[in-house]
Amino acid sequence: MKNWLLWGMMLLLCISLYSGDNMKAVVSSGEAEIPREILETLDPVTREMLTEEPKYLALTFDDGPRRGTTDILLNGLQERGVPATFFVVGEQIEGNEDLILRMKAEGHQIGNHTYSHTMLLKAEKAAMMEEIRKTEVMLEQLIGGGHYWLRPPYGLIDVKRAAQVKTPMIYWSVDPEDWDLLDTEKVVARVMEQVTNKDIVLLHDFYPTSVDAALELIDRLQEKGYTFVTVEELFRIQGIEPEAGLLYASPTCIRPLP
Ligand SMILES: [Zn+2]
Repeated sequence: MKNWLLWGMMLLLCISLYSGDNMKAVVSSGEAEIPREILETLDPVTREMLTEEPKYLALTFDDGPRRGTTDILLNGLQERGVPATFFVVGEQIEGNEDLILRMKAEGHQIGNHTYSHTMLLKAEKAAMMEEIRKTEVMLEQLIGGGHYWLRPPYGLIDVKRAAQVKTPMIYWSVDPEDWDLLDTEKVVARVMEQVTNKDIVLLHDFYPTSVDAALELIDRLQEKGYTFVTVEELFRIQGIEPEAGLLYASPTCIRPLP
């Protein structure tokens, strides 16, 4: 019961942070920049276009890279000029080094999803650090040093273990459970129902149905005025510097840890 209450409060806090931010942006892009008397002379569609807050989304892909799916996704992203964020599993890198090099060269963000997709919540400290470090070293050797943000497998980590993590951790705000649906149209429909401005969407480049869904979502959401950015860019747009050891569901929403 106590837990339930805490979650409810966090959700409300995140929602209120969102709406507060949205309201500010509407006022500044609408009334501050375009005089009201000019706005009133425009037709409703043009008026909406001019006063609408810019909408951003970050698509994230876990569990790859995988030949036959990640490369098709990269082709589709390149055709559309859309950057994404890949949380890669160390075990998947071997033999797929060219895909990591491509991600880097084509402007995508690369993050760490541990070496063997370990449930960190149950790992000993040394084993957890090794799981994170191994993938980090592989990425450093391939594409150079950087800070590779962590997405804990299953999104699960606790306060004690999180304190050991030297980078920010990224959760998500939209999860269509694509790995369970394995159906392009259902994944598309679920994301379209849930998605709002500045969301972080969780998908897996491991499944052909998810790759097809991602590309269809990009086309449909671009038509609705969304711009796709990496997770790092989404934080920059919000003016938020993420902190190491915290798990972010979005730039303005930190997920409470057990
Ligand atoms: Zn995963």
